[in-house]
Amino acid sequence: MHTAKYEADLHCHTIESDGLFTPEEVVRLAWEAGLKALAITDHDTINGWTEAENAVRKYPIALVKGIEINTDWDGREVHILGYALDENDEKLYIQLTELREKRVQRIKKMIEKLQQCGLSISFEEVKGHAGGDSIGRPHIAQALIDRGYVRSVLEAFNKYLKIGKPAYVPRHKLDPVEAIRIIRDAGGVAVVAHPGSFCSEQEISQWVKTGLQGIEVYHPDNSADDRRRLTRIARQKGLIITGGSDFHGYSIKPGINLGDWGVGITALKEIEQLRRKTH
Ligand code: AMP
Ligand code: ZN
Ligand code: FE
Ligand code: FE
Repeated sequence: MHTAKYEADLHCHTIESDGLFTPEEVVRLAWEAGLKALAITDHDTINGWTEAENAVRKYPIALVKGIEINTDWDGREVHILGYALDENDEKLYIQLTELREKRVQRIKKMIEKLQQCGLSISFEEVKGHAGGDSIGRPHIAQALIDRGYVRSVLEAFNKYLKIGKPAYVPRHKLDPVEAIRIIRDAGGVAVVAHPGSFCSEQEISQWVKTGLQGIEVYHPDNSADDRRRLTRIARQKGLIITGGSDFHGYSIKPGINLGDWGVGITALKEIEQLRRKTH
């Protein structure tokens, strides 16, 4: 059996967005791996939280209710994690519903572009791979695999779906500052996800001025050099340090298990101290 290397894994996805496992299955896998805490951070949705809350009664670990909002910024993708948001916040509900509707429009445009490349898949086929209502590029990748156009999710991204490839369509206009605002307005803690070497210190400083509170330092996409640089920036600016595996399930992100990346359990206290109760 697989054993966690950290106490708290603060980044993973379920079928509510582009993960392969249900919230209950993810909680069970985390518990089996020996994790003390897990954050569920689906893209643009909090619909997995209730099932996960029920599951931690059966598989006792601490649950952090999280989210990941993907934004486009200056030709790059910047993802913002939110932790401990208020699930009853009406504005949050409206904003997330809107983001998911825009996902549908984007996916439909990408399907048209694929058709222009001679790859014929329907929206229904793509939708069939989404367990919830937060549809994304990995679901297109799975539909392309079903049709035999590609052999893996990675191949689908590298040939068609990533920035610069023929079926790529930019996201609706949403920048990191707006994502940070959505999270903070709902009382949550805003953390920049896996910045790697893509975000400059100056950019991070700017985002801190608009409400950013942490940096995800421990993540498979951050190199050892990145982790050193990001740790230094976090310490200088008084930001919390988080980490997580970004587990999606084995065929979507091969070679990554829950607990492979993360932080110590004390991160939960820091999140609790930074969150603001809105109701
Ligand atoms: P979307 O939210 O629809 O733009 O899809 C983005 C998601 O696709 C990311 O959160 C990752 O889970 C996945 N992804 C992004 N780039 C790649 C890549 N190059 N290879 C495999 N998966 C990727
Ligand atoms: Zn994802
Ligand atoms: Fe991400
Ligand atoms: Fe993620």
